[in-house]
Amino acid sequence: MKAIVFNQHGGPEVLKFSDAPDPKIRPNEVLVRVKACALNHLDLWVRRGIPGVPIPLPHIPGSDISGEIAQVGAEVSTVRVGQKVVLAPLVSCGKCSACMAGLDNHCRQATNLGYMIDGGCAEFVRAPEVNCLPYPENLSFEEAASIPLVFQTAWHMLLARAELQPGEDVLVLGAGSGVGSAAIQIAKFFGARVIATAGTDEKLQKAKQLGADYLINHKTQKIRDEVRRITNKRGVDVVFEHVGTATWDDSLASLAAGGRLVTCGATTGYDAKVDLRFLFTRQLSLLGSYMGTKSELQTVMKLVAAGKLKPIVDRVFPLAEAAAAHAYLESSSQFGKVVLKV
Ligand SMILES: [Zn+2]
Repeated sequence: MKAIVFNQHGGPEVLKFSDAPDPKIRPNEVLVRVKACALNHLDLWVRRGIPGVPIPLPHIPGSDISGEIAQVGAEVSTVRVGQKVVLAPLVSCGKCSACMAGLDNHCRQATNLGYMIDGGCAEFVRAPEVNCLPYPENLSFEEAASIPLVFQTAWHMLLARAELQPGEDVLVLGAGSGVGSAAIQIAKFFGARVIATAGTDEKLQKAKQLGADYLINHKTQKIRDEVRRITNKRGVDVVFEHVGTATWDDSLASLAAGGRLVTCGATTGYDAKVDLRFLFTRQLSLLGSYMGTKSELQTVMKLVAAGKLKPIVDRVFPLAEAAAAHAYLESSSQFGKVVLKV
């Protein structure tokens, strides 16, 4: 098959469009003919190399996959050949106590398609049967591939971790990112008031179309000052973080007393400071979040099929141009998802 493969870590130029062996499925797996694979920041980290994470080389990246089932293993009973499918990105052991509890994102053996195992930047990918999600028929393959990772992550952050309540104020950083555009929609769906930040007015207008109530241009305005002004000096109940070093101080300073900061990433760096006096006197909560559970993703897919949540596709590249797509994602000029069409 044709695939995007890298043999060493580095810049986008290490991604080669080349021949790779067809994946061989196990009895509990399906083979998917990939139609689209959406990119995430995780793809950039995996390509650059992560200290202490020995990614097997050569490697095929790509976590967010839609396509058609081409082959099923002997034990597969819930899906059939020819069926359209979206894949849940998180592959867990399915046997440990965390998996038994439905907390597959706590599984110590869990990884993502395209992370420690081969992913979907290829004509075919193999995945466990349990990772097959119902296909939302109202969506193109490019749109469908844009849902899983960011919507699952944003859902888990806002609901499972930050326990968002109707009427609360939420600050969503980086509205132009995939996870930010998902967070705005989820927060609005649950009746929150949303303040969104982005680096250009064009992105802010798109955030407004998704439902953001207030907009902050972080290039020309100071986030904490604007949040204080908008909330009449109170601050927000929830800060949705994924930016890291560049926004951390503003994020903490934007919290109301009793506020919760939830984070899933650190695209600008992972060094951050916390003034402990501020943390305890204001009774703040700092919450880490990683991916989400398969059952949360099942719920997300229902809401997508019902038109309540919408994937935002910024730009589609052919699979062979994966390097250009990575460079484009690295430039942060997108609003929503960058997708490879296979
Ligand atoms: Zn497990």
